[in-house]
Amino acid sequence: MFADLHLHTNFSDGTYSPEELAAQARAHGLAALALTDHDTVEGCERAARASESAGLEFIPGTELTAEQDGNELHILGYFLDTQNQRLLTEIARFQLVRQNRIREMVARLQAVHVPLQPEMVFALANCRSPGRPHVARALVKAGFCATLDEAFERFLKKNRPAWVPKFKMSAADAMELVHQSGGVAVLAHPGLNRSDEVIPGMVEAGLDGIECFHTKHSTAVSQHYLEIADRFKLLVTGGSDCHGLSKGKPLIGTIKLPYQHVERLKARASERKTALAISAGAKFLPVNGQ
Ligand code: AMP
Ligand code: ZN
Ligand code: FE
Ligand code: FE
Repeated sequence: MFADLHLHTNFSDGTYSPEELAAQARAHGLAALALTDHDTVEGCERAARASESAGLEFIPGTELTAEQDGNELHILGYFLDTQNQRLLTEIARFQLVRQNRIREMVARLQAVHVPLQPEMVFALANCRSPGRPHVARALVKAGFCATLDEAFERFLKKNRPAWVPKFKMSAADAMELVHQSGGVAVLAHPGLNRSDEVIPGMVEAGLDGIECFHTKHSTAVSQHYLEIADRFKLLVTGGSDCHGLSKGKPLIGTIKLPYQHVERLKARASERKTALAISAGAKFLPVNGQ
């Protein structure tokens, strides 16, 4: 039995709907899947329903944009309570920032005589968590660029004319947000960050696991992070980071995480939920037997 624990839908910058994602997971023979859209959990309810119909285990998740010592990094949250009020409030705030960032990127495009309209991006994105890939798609659709790569290379990459820095919460805050909603916090694709020195501090701050297996990790890189996981007693996860059809061939199923890792992740989430319930209940317990 295998799982893919890093997947995106059209609730952020993936192209599959939650239903299409579940169908793809089934077609690839997966036993379990996790939805990890950027700064949102909105697709989880539909993905859970579709997964159940397809006979698959579904793990609600998210991929939070965060930073540590000036480096952008992504925190995956698994098994979170997708109705948690604080999580939803924080997510709404990040989404507003993302939407304002799109307006700023479009203004910068206009300043270099690319007359894209923000409405074109929002209509195409059709979600509350828009990002640069949506601007890139709008640039291609409107005929200003031939390919998504050209859009990133000419306009959207760091230090290009339409690049706008992204608001990021601290990694510690992101992990705390995941934890207080009953979830497990995992460092996404550490091999892409190339900043292993942040890991010990994150472990101190409550990191539960690291994504050892990822499409962009070579076998040697995966092995390196398996050793780090072992050294710091971290859970091991893996996922394809599939964005659907946006980047050529869909990646879903290219990472096949052995199911035993899902069981460990689930056990940690259940410990966390028990601890949260005890601390919430403690508020109502009589003090000194009164
Ligand atoms: P954002 O969160 O708005 O900064 O956008 C990040 C997203 O852009 C990630 O999903 C990346 O995979 C994607 N991305 C970054 N560079 C490129 C590129 N050159 N071509 C296509 N997608 C890219
Ligand atoms: Zn993405
Ligand atoms: Fe990521
Ligand atoms: Fe991702």
